[in-house]
Amino acid sequence: MKIALAKEIEVGERRVGLIPDLVARLVKQGLEVGVEAGAGEKSFFSDAAYEKAGATIYDDKAKLWGEAGIVVKVAPPKDEEISLLNEGSIVISLLNPLGKPETIQKLADRRVTAFAMETIPRTSRAQSMDVLSSQAAVAGYKAVLLAAATAPKFFPMLTTAAGTIRPAKVFVMGAGVAGLQAIATARRLGAVVEAFDIRPAVKEEVQSLGAKFVEIKLDEDTVAEGGYAKEISEESKKRTQELVAETVAGADVVVTTAQVPGKKAPLLVTEEMVARMKPGAVIVDLAAEQGGNCACTEAGKDVVVNGVTILGPINLPSSMPVHASQMYAKNILTFLQILIDKTEVNLNFEDDIIDNTCVTTGGEIRNARVREALDRVSC
Ligand code: NAD
Repeated sequence: MKIALAKEIEVGERRVGLIPDLVARLVKQGLEVGVEAGAGEKSFFSDAAYEKAGATIYDDKAKLWGEAGIVVKVAPPKDEEISLLNEGSIVISLLNPLGKPETIQKLADRRVTAFAMETIPRTSRAQSMDVLSSQAAVAGYKAVLLAAATAPKFFPMLTTAAGTIRPAKVFVMGAGVAGLQAIATARRLGAVVEAFDIRPAVKEEVQSLGAKFVEIKLDEDTVAEGGYAKEISEESKKRTQELVAETVAGADVVVTTAQVPGKKAPLLVTEEMVARMKPGAVIVDLAAEQGGNCACTEAGKDVVVNGVTILGPINLPSSMPVHASQMYAKNILTFLQILIDKTEVNLNFEDDIIDNTCVTTGGEIRNARVREALDRVSC
């Protein structure tokens, strides 16, 4: 069976779905791997390196996709790519199934079996396949570097002949995978860090990284199945905004990472809160693509409001394509190891990972939340 490694065509996507070292493992297992010429170029993995790993390089995209039993990608396939997929073939990729359910419908119409890597369950067994976590770690790290490069101040405390510099104050809102990496990175740079999340369970993790946890008790359950946050009521949102307002006002840098799966990102920083911040302060909004955690965020843009710079970066993992691809590819390889028995695909829906991740097969959309999202889109 042939596995095809796609060259990404999405604007700004620099990652690649498999790296040469891991291709070598698949080839050793007896699988054929075909790589679209230049697939790894933007992440600095050359065609020669894939060839050395045992892959065949294809200049003809349609030929490769037409021969492949499995296509591995990073960004959701576009219409022109979906039309290249064979009926009965498999695509493994990020698919944004709740944000863009129309893509899943098109894959179903094409009778492709599609695995959305966003829907890997959050269990210990699936941890090594969890692309959301691996890519969120990259985003959290890079967010702090962007903030440090934009801030008109040092992050660490400095004792110099020209006087003592006080450390920067960083406030991280949302302490999931990205938030925890942002805290760790800001601490490594010497900042004084505070963090907040509506899930009280993260308090210890925040403290273990050397940050102070801003504790807010809400009168509702904030944790959903799988350890994710629930969407909280408007009243709770207002209460948290009031309670974090002082910390936001005193911060030199605010990194926001709060998300609720399948929903618009919660508003954490209002315009009034931005107006109270110090001129020169920086906000990095990692939820920019999901509507933003800050009222002033514009996705893909840097805006300045009352001297406060608000960065709304898009696809930060792609800006560090070497390690982002390495981690993504390791997630994919581990997933392939449960999907493929020696050299044949084993679609075992009794395995919760396969069951959860497979969004469409045989023309049917298997995931109820995707079907609901489609109904909403068509209304
Ligand atoms: P995410 O990207 O969905 O959200 C980021 C953070 O935003 C979360 O910590 C969430 O609690 C927080 N948030 C949501 N609404 C908020 C609000 N109104 N105010 C403040 N914060 C808010 O989450 P994630 O980082 O992908 O993961 C969340 C959790 O999932 C993890 O911390 C962990 O418990 C669990 N998880 C489990 C596994 C595993 O077991 N394999 C892997 C990764 C994550």
